[in-house]
Order: sequence, then C-alpha cells, then structure tokens
Amino acid sequence: MSERTYGFATQQLHAGQSADPTTGARAVPIYQTTSFVFKDFATAKAVCSVEEFGYDYSRIGNPTNEVLENRIAALEGGTGALALASGSAATATTILNLTHAGDEVVAAKTLYGGSFNLFVNTLPKHGIRTILVDPADPDNFARAITERTRAIFVETIGNPDINVIDFEAVARIAEAHGLPLIVDNTFGTPYLFRPFDHGANISVHSATKFIGGHGTSIGGLVVDGGNFNWANGKFPDFTTPDPAYAGFVHWDKWGNYPGAGNIAFIIKLRLHYLRDLGASLSPFNAFLFLQGLETLSLRLERQVANTQKIAEWLEARPDVEWVAYPGLRSSPYYALAQKYLPKGAGAILTFGVKGGLDRAKRLIESTKIFSFLANVGDSKSLIVHPATVTHGQLSEAEQRLAGVRPEQVRLSVGTEDIDDLLWDLDQAFAASAP
Ligand SMILES: *Cc1c(COP(=O)(O)O)cnc(C)c1O
Repeated sequence: MSERTYGFATQQLHAGQSADPTTGARAVPIYQTTSFVFKDFATAKAVCSVEEFGYDYSRIGNPTNEVLENRIAALEGGTGALALASGSAATATTILNLTHAGDEVVAAKTLYGGSFNLFVNTLPKHGIRTILVDPADPDNFARAITERTRAIFVETIGNPDINVIDFEAVARIAEAHGLPLIVDNTFGTPYLFRPFDHGANISVHSATKFIGGHGTSIGGLVVDGGNFNWANGKFPDFTTPDPAYAGFVHWDKWGNYPGAGNIAFIIKLRLHYLRDLGASLSPFNAFLFLQGLETLSLRLERQVANTQKIAEWLEARPDVEWVAYPGLRSSPYYALAQKYLPKGAGAILTFGVKGGLDRAKRLIESTKIFSFLANVGDSKSLIVHPATVTHGQLSEAEQRLAGVRPEQVRLSVGTEDIDDLLWDLDQAFAASAP
C-alpha cells in the first residue's frame, strides 16, 4: 500500500483488492466455489482451527466476499467486516453476537419495519427484550438502560420519519455505560455518514439498497469499528474459553490482532453466527455489490441533489400537507443533518398528501417513472405507501409508534433527469386530484 491516504472515490474503486495473483484479472473474480483444496494436512488443520486465516468452505469465507468486506471496512474506517445474505441477517446476527437470553437492547423506535419486528416480536421469543425509545431526546436512551442492557441500536436516518439522531450524544451515553452503539447505516451509506467518526462501534447495512444501487441483489454487511472494549465485564463470550474452538479466548486472540487491531467482534460473528446460522452471501451477489460500490459516491451526489430539489418543490405545493426531509430548513432535524450529513441528507423523503389515504393511493398508482415497489436506494426512482407496504405488517398502534401515517407517501429518488421526475410527480398529482 502507498503511504498516501486515498479519497473516497478512489477507495470505492480500489480498496481491499489487489489484481488477481494467478491471472492478473483487473475486475474482482467471482470465486463461485463451495470449497478450497487444502495445500497439505498441516494447512487444513491450521485453517479449520483458525490458527491461521485461509479458506475452507464458502459458508464461512470466500475470496470474492472478502474483497467486498475489506472495501466496506476501508470506506467506513473499520477494522474488519462481514458479508451476509441480507441486511436482516446482518442485524439479527449482530444482536445475537452480543446477547444471551435475559439480556436487553435499547433501540430507537423509528426503525425499518423488518428490524422493528425482529426486536419487538422475534427476539423476545428467545429471551432478548428490546426497550424502544423516542430518539429525539438522547436522554431517553440513558433512562432505558438497565444492568441487563447489552447494546444501543439506532438508524442513521430513521424510516419513515426521516429523522436524524444526535449520534455523539447517544454515543457518549453508550460509552458511559460500557455499551456498544450499533448504527444501521443503510440510509446513510458510507459516503454520506461514517458512524465510527461519531462514536459508534458497529455498523450494519442492507447492501440491497444504495450499495448495490441497481435493485438486483439482496445482501448485508456488518462493519467492526474496532473501538470497543469487549473485556469490560459485560460480554463473557469474548473473555472466557470458547468450547466451540478448543477453548481459545476471543478477546485474547483478536482483541489486538497484529496488523489489524481489535477485530474480536467481527471474527466471533463469522465463527459463530455465520458458521452456525448460515446466512452467507453468494459470491455472485458480492460481485454485484462491488460493482455498485464503484459508483456509490457518484450516484449519491446526483440522488441527494435530486431529492433536495423534489423536497423543495413538494413543500411549495398547496396539495401537500407536510414534507419530511432533513435537508429542508423547516425540518426539526435540519441542524443535526447539517452537522452529521454535510454531503446531503440522503435520497429518501416522505410527504403527506392533502386528501389522505385515498389521494395517496391514486397518486402512487399514477406515476410513470417512479415505480411502486418495496425497496429504496435504487438508481431508479421509487414510490411506496409505508402504512400498506414497508410497515404493513405492524398493528395500528405499532405504526403510530414508528411514525407511520395513512396519508404518508415515501419516495426514494434516483439518478434520472430532475425535470422528468418533477414532471412525473406533477402529472400524478393532477391525475389524483379530487
Ligand atoms: C432494507 C433494510 C433492512 C433489511 O435489509 P434486507 O437486505 O432487505 O434484509 C434493514 N435496515 C434498513 C434501514 C433497510 O432499509
């Protein structure tokens, strides 16, 4: 490596890869193989007992996936990363990696619908309880912490409220209580927000969204900030002998690994929860996410600019009740967005249409460029009704808690010509007028 620290656009093309040593291939090869031939008996033993790093079986590690892992770790400034089959797998395994039955998580109540379900309905069946708090006041996190709390979980830009949290205030609370702060940075992307620069310890991503960027593949990533002391007494799995690996102690082995630093969280995640639950990412999908990452900053610059213009255009319309986008001066999160998201407040906004649910329905069915579907972060513009689709599985009370409203429409703004996007919305408003 050169002694120069490369900029983001250079790193998104190059970090974590050297040209293939066998063939010189410039693009990252797709190592579509389940298994890897062992050089000899001694290597097989060393790799399988993790005395040395190497490949044995693609459920646990694969060279194509590893380039993706190295690249995202470089882009976010982490010590290591793990690729998984989906963003949901990334979040679920992250929580399992630091909790036992009887433990608790404190989470912001403004969460992606799937994460909301994981915390409120699924994890409690396994004895892991989540206390949801209003993240607008960071002290709400402090008030919810008990002796059993093992993590704080927030999203960079909450959904569908499009809220921004005071990360540094929440990080100070987490640190004071010896707890890791986990940030779902899917809506932020490593280009707009680097969680570890603001005190977070672990970040998770749905790579499905902006990282892939083309709506082709489901995948997830976990990044280890390498900045948390897992030997603080709350996490015995890191500091006591692991019977699954001949009794080695994770913290002793990976707490300060030569050349990498503190990689204990991400290695244990791979060795326990990727190995045992098996939510591994296909190397082909890893390749597509690497293709996506190559243009992440370029797409985001365009998407953020388009979103800002659409937000201002919507705000000026008499048939729009409200617009939620932290890039607007009218947003209660404007100051926080200026501080934490100076390159732009993301490419997702919600608005309330006058005329309620009926008009929202007609509007969504009338767009010609915006596609009505359940996804975000595509280069193509998307439109959805959160109360029916992304948060449709929640009860009415849960929807209210998560900030979902009947008149609410969500846009994920793509890279199309802005004049075409404004034309499309304008004709959809006209077609849906009472
Ligand atoms: C989509 C999404 C997830 C879940 O990711 P999948 O790849 O769909 O499993 C988690 N968090 C956020 C913020 C998301 O948008």
